[in-house]
Amino acid sequence: MTRTLTVSIGQHSERGRKDANQDFHGVLVPEGPALRLKGIAAVVADGISSSALGAMASETAVKSFLSDYYATPDSWTVRSAAKRVLAATNSWLYAQTRRAAEPGDSDRGCVTTLSALVLRSRTAHVFHAGDTRISRLAGRSLEQITEDHRVVVSNHENYLGRALGVSPQVEFNCVSVPVQVGDVFVLTSDGVHEHLRPRDIAEAISSAGVDLQSAARRIVDAAYETGSGDNLTALIVRIESLPEGEPDEIVGEVGDLPPAPLLEPPTRFDGYDILRRLHAGSRGHVYLAVDPGSGERVALKVPGIELRGDRDYLRHFTMEEWIARRLDSPHVLKAHGRITPRSHLYTVMRYVEGRTLAQWMADHREPDLETVRRLVEQIARGLQAFHRREMIHGDLRPENVLIDTAGTVQIIDFGATRVAGLVEEGGRTDDALPQGAIQYTAPECFLGDPPSPVSDIFALGVLAYQMLTGRLPYGGDAARARTARRQRRLRYVSARHARPLLPAWVDGALRRATHPDPQRRYEVLSEFVHDLRHPNPALAETRGVPLMERDPILFWRGLCLVLGVTVVVLLAILVLRGH
Ligand code: ADP
Ligand code: MG
Repeated sequence: MTRTLTVSIGQHSERGRKDANQDFHGVLVPEGPALRLKGIAAVVADGISSSALGAMASETAVKSFLSDYYATPDSWTVRSAAKRVLAATNSWLYAQTRRAAEPGDSDRGCVTTLSALVLRSRTAHVFHAGDTRISRLAGRSLEQITEDHRVVVSNHENYLGRALGVSPQVEFNCVSVPVQVGDVFVLTSDGVHEHLRPRDIAEAISSAGVDLQSAARRIVDAAYETGSGDNLTALIVRIESLPEGEPDEIVGEVGDLPPAPLLEPPTRFDGYDILRRLHAGSRGHVYLAVDPGSGERVALKVPGIELRGDRDYLRHFTMEEWIARRLDSPHVLKAHGRITPRSHLYTVMRYVEGRTLAQWMADHREPDLETVRRLVEQIARGLQAFHRREMIHGDLRPENVLIDTAGTVQIIDFGATRVAGLVEEGGRTDDALPQGAIQYTAPECFLGDPPSPVSDIFALGVLAYQMLTGRLPYGGDAARARTARRQRRLRYVSARHARPLLPAWVDGALRRATHPDPQRRYEVLSEFVHDLRHPNPALAETRGVPLMERDPILFWRGLCLVLGVTVVVLLAILVLRGH
């Protein structure tokens, strides 16, 4: 029988002399292929705040590390997966800090330290920011693997030099070391290691024998007894067995997988039965396939031939499944659950039986307002799931929205999605955008602004307008206006030209959602969705808007009346002159 990685664990955490425990810790030992591909993760975090936010920060950091790390694609190395997950978590915490804290009040932020240990194959990978610690038992003492990010001001004063949630980017300490059977790793919060000598911790572990749980408790109790006034956490992991082979990934990155070849259905590929092609585009080919293990139908996407040499595109491609796994919304396409080793680069998502919004629009020339509202509301909910996690979809358009046979809408295609904290990854460049996508690109993005939640709102506004009218709010002009001057000259075409019976306040909501100036657009999706349903007097305010835009029917009726009267008058003059 081949041996696998197994560990014993002991863990204990207490609030000690403080009112609440702002420490948080967790261990995940997966089963099956995930154990081999991803390994075992143990994390300790210490929330820093005088408010309850500290506890929220440490808990979020630990939980998101454990869930997001196991959702990363298999083609990523442990190091790049963990670093991306931590960067994304930091961005989320930093956004909460900005929302919660008064300017300059660093004490009320969503701030936490974090030390994570990932054991995979025969290697231990350590990721760390702050003053929690990871050490390894070395004879009768401890060898500290992480460095404390503390700035010492004087004998009595020192403060945390690095933590999550303080700034848009954090630099993490990353260390990889080979491991042996019997190695013991100890993760502690400062409430423990500031009050015990490394020798005392080593002694507590050695004397506890196999019972690591009581060792963890004894370490916490001992630190408390020596007067620790802080929260106390100790997490011990001992390696009981290891798989055969060499330590991996100690230096550098393992090369990426080669892109999957184009497939000729029906065929079998990497354990999937490929039934038929769903889509063939320059950027990707999508196939309907069946996972014989579960019998589930899946959509398998392979990178397009032309972009195979484009490393940025491929790196983004590998993120699509991870992004899907980080989101939990009925209105966002889900990744397929199975994690198995892959021979090539491709994505596997759940299959959605239905049609794209593009097809739906072709099939429904004049849908009623209520139907459109229901679709817009679902897309908005999907987008909100992105925005809540500090992500921007970045490529919302009719081909990237699927409507299943039950009428449920799902947003798909995360090839342009931006994850805050991973900005260096870049989105799709303008050149890589498919024709047609530019109609949904917010004007400010043409001027070089990065995609933002309000640029997603612009795209949704254009979609709503298009569903109702079959046209675009600026004709084709918005996509051509590539300078601020030309954008200022853009004129919104009232949706009531195409649909005169559309209420003016609905048109007002569309106008605001698609405003060329991001400052004058809706700031949040919920407001747009609300205004599509409830008359907003501010939007029905039409002073200054020409009658032809405000009320085309009245305009044309008026014009006809004027023309009619003119004709009558002219006729009367002719008749009178004739006499
Ligand atoms: P691309 O990056 O090439 O635009 P997409 O992920 O948008 O790739 O997929 C292209 C097309 O394939 C979609 O417009 C849709 O028609 C089809 N498709 C993609 N994913 C699925 C899925 N999960 N279920 C059904 N059809 C899909
Ligand atoms: Mg697409």
